[in-house]
Amino acid sequence: MTAVDLACAIPNNVGLAEKPGLRKSLEWFDVEFRKWWFDCGPAGVRDSEAYLRTPVGVDAGGWAQYGFVPLSQYRWGVFQAPAKPGRVALFGAIAGQPVWHALPAEHRDYIRKLLITQGDTEPGSVEQSRHLALTAPSLYDLRNLLQFSVEEGRHLWAMVHLLLDHFGDAGRGDAEALLARRSGSAGNPRILDAFNNPLQDWLSYFIWCFLADRDGKYQLLSVSESAFDPLARSTQFMLTEEAHHMFIGEDGLRRVIQRTIDLMREYDTDDVAPYGGINLATMQRFLNFWAPRIYDLFGSDESARAADAFFAGIKSRVHESNYDEHVRLEGMVTVERCAPGGGEYAAVQVPMQDALNGVMRQAYLHEVTMLMSRWNKLLARAGIAVELRLPSQRFNRRFGVYADRRFSPEGDPVDEATFETRRGEWLPTAADRAHLRAVQQPVRAPGTLAGWLVPPARGINNMPALDFEYVRF
Ligand code: FE
Repeated sequence: MTAVDLACAIPNNVGLAEKPGLRKSLEWFDVEFRKWWFDCGPAGVRDSEAYLRTPVGVDAGGWAQYGFVPLSQYRWGVFQAPAKPGRVALFGAIAGQPVWHALPAEHRDYIRKLLITQGDTEPGSVEQSRHLALTAPSLYDLRNLLQFSVEEGRHLWAMVHLLLDHFGDAGRGDAEALLARRSGSAGNPRILDAFNNPLQDWLSYFIWCFLADRDGKYQLLSVSESAFDPLARSTQFMLTEEAHHMFIGEDGLRRVIQRTIDLMREYDTDDVAPYGGINLATMQRFLNFWAPRIYDLFGSDESARAADAFFAGIKSRVHESNYDEHVRLEGMVTVERCAPGGGEYAAVQVPMQDALNGVMRQAYLHEVTMLMSRWNKLLARAGIAVELRLPSQRFNRRFGVYADRRFSPEGDPVDEATFETRRGEWLPTAADRAHLRAVQQPVRAPGTLAGWLVPPARGINNMPALDFEYVRF
């Protein structure tokens, strides 16, 4: 296994000391990336230092250390999970054969596109959330946003490392383009639609981390057992960092919900907005807004490309090793199809290989629903007869078989007039957005917290939850 080299200007365990050409390319990228970070990284903290987790190894036991790091001097670096000697392909037509360390010519185009699309999401999410650094509800939350931001940055580095290592000058051009696109830009937007929606409030940020970073986990898991070994090892390491992003979202939403429950009981009302809280109905509308954008990220349930990538050994089901059979993809799955001419939708059974995106989305929805049931138990225990729910997969989609048609959040077909009449009930209103802007006043003194959420149960790395200066301005 290649040792971790922290003395190198680019901390790495990919042997840059023995690869001067690649090191030079990454040094070029370091300069360009820092210009992007200066322009597009978290706002207003350029000269601050933060209590961050930084990778120092790749062992499950001790892969990271915590300490104060000036954000202007942060070193991103390139890390991969350790190689497994003698590893063979797990799935597809090449199952049982040795994995690839160099890229087979016939898969270059597909993998290049995969690296670019995955890579593009990482800076996109930093750009989307950069202004939230100005309105964090506590130093703990600001620190988590900064941790998220540097790690999304490192995940871009991981994809760029593979582009530069395996695609030469073309990969360099791709890296330049990854730094040139901008979330929400009219002329040069991020590739995937979801990453062009700004995160203007912390409620949206928590929902984003809960739903979109979890989509990220599923996308990374689907290539973490890839026959292209460098991709598998890069994404395995990314997944160790990704877990914290999902925690930010899940625990952040729990804290908002708990505060709302407390205020509902204290004032005996559903409308806690006058007391500085966030109403459950507002939360539901924001879930309804974001969930369809994330559903779109999985692609069409039925996909010939997904089948090709599986049989090629590149992209599998999530937790492929948990399945019994990895070659023929036997079994049927249920998907919805629209009758030709825009008629009714009907459930049809199709061979699993034809609907691998649908298989992944179903697994994702199962996990999200399970996690949301914990919040609903909190609500039920408090005697509140409201449940937070994911909207139907049909609701408000921009891509796939449900795009251009109107449905209620429950999935019932509605006409355009009904949708418009009920829009303010189903999707965030101007009043919702104004309220969130009003309550998210920045709180930057240790020991203090904004009024719209409860404190975290514990701090980072056994530090106090609130009474600790996680960020020094
Ligand atoms: Fe993430």
